[in-house]
Amino acid sequence: MDLVATLREAGCEVEDHRVPGARGRFDPVGVLWHHTASDPRADPISSIALYTRGRQGLPGPVVQLLLGRDAKFRAISDGRCNHAGRCSKKVINEIKGGAAPVRSAAARNLRDTTVGNRWLIGIEVENDGIGEDLRPGVWEALLCATAAICRAQGWAAGHVAGHLHITRRKIDPSWPSLPSWVEARAQIQAEIRRQANPPLEFVDFSPRPEAKLRPDGLVEGWAVTAEGRVQAQHGTRHYGDLKGLGIVPDEPIVAICGTRHGYWLIAADLGVFAFGDAPVPSTHAEVMEIIRAAGGLASPVVSASRTDELLIPFAGDGGQFPLPISQRR
Ligand SMILES: [Zn+2]
Repeated sequence: MDLVATLREAGCEVEDHRVPGARGRFDPVGVLWHHTASDPRADPISSIALYTRGRQGLPGPVVQLLLGRDAKFRAISDGRCNHAGRCSKKVINEIKGGAAPVRSAAARNLRDTTVGNRWLIGIEVENDGIGEDLRPGVWEALLCATAAICRAQGWAAGHVAGHLHITRRKIDPSWPSLPSWVEARAQIQAEIRRQANPPLEFVDFSPRPEAKLRPDGLVEGWAVTAEGRVQAQHGTRHYGDLKGLGIVPDEPIVAICGTRHGYWLIAADLGVFAFGDAPVPSTHAEVMEIIRAAGGLASPVVSASRTDELLIPFAGDGGQFPLPISQRR
């Protein structure tokens, strides 16, 4: 897995310090949280060398991800790392099955019977582990990255554990505001859901031309996002969109114009996409001719409206690009 790309796509801040993984097999089944037990005055940059190269008796890389007190990640390696050490095979199997335990290995009196590095992706959270609490943004960053990895691997929150769960030798992670593991996993699961269904951000709305005010005070119509995703609102029908067609527009969609049973999506570069009964307004050659006649598309299209005979994209500099609405489909 490309950890930098995975984290950035989820919105985490990541510095790339990646080195190749340690020798040995790497078949991750879960995410393991740690704390670094480092001095709060420590400079995260100085510890990057330790995490990439390791130290006497602990060859690097020492962990896949280091989360600084500044809520920024340092990616150390995409491969196998020496972070988990000796641990209970029973718990590795529980994590593999998506049923990571709530109780520590010490409380369950579990013996170390295997080495965990093959199975776990580690996140070291910079924290002294003796009373220091997380600084603003660090918990959110930890949830964000953990959920992003889970999503990339197809895991639920039951694939996330702490070092203390897999071996009775360890007590990390531990900081004052760390919630119970039931609560922590509930928050991870909520973050997985949030990342899977990001809220839509609409850029325009068009009512259905004959739409009346509904008893609930709303109007039938369609809303569109910059990516060309259309949401049919308040009882009207959906006639398809760019997402459904698998099309990524070259330039963002800026406007939607409704017809009786369809709509046009208009892009900033004057691209026009017709759905339902909306006729294709012009051929590409005709559009180019209209742009030429208007003296060029000097400024991006920012909105569009229509009459019975024309679809009129409108540019930010005042340019109009009236497209005849023929019946040609
Ligand atoms: Zn640890």
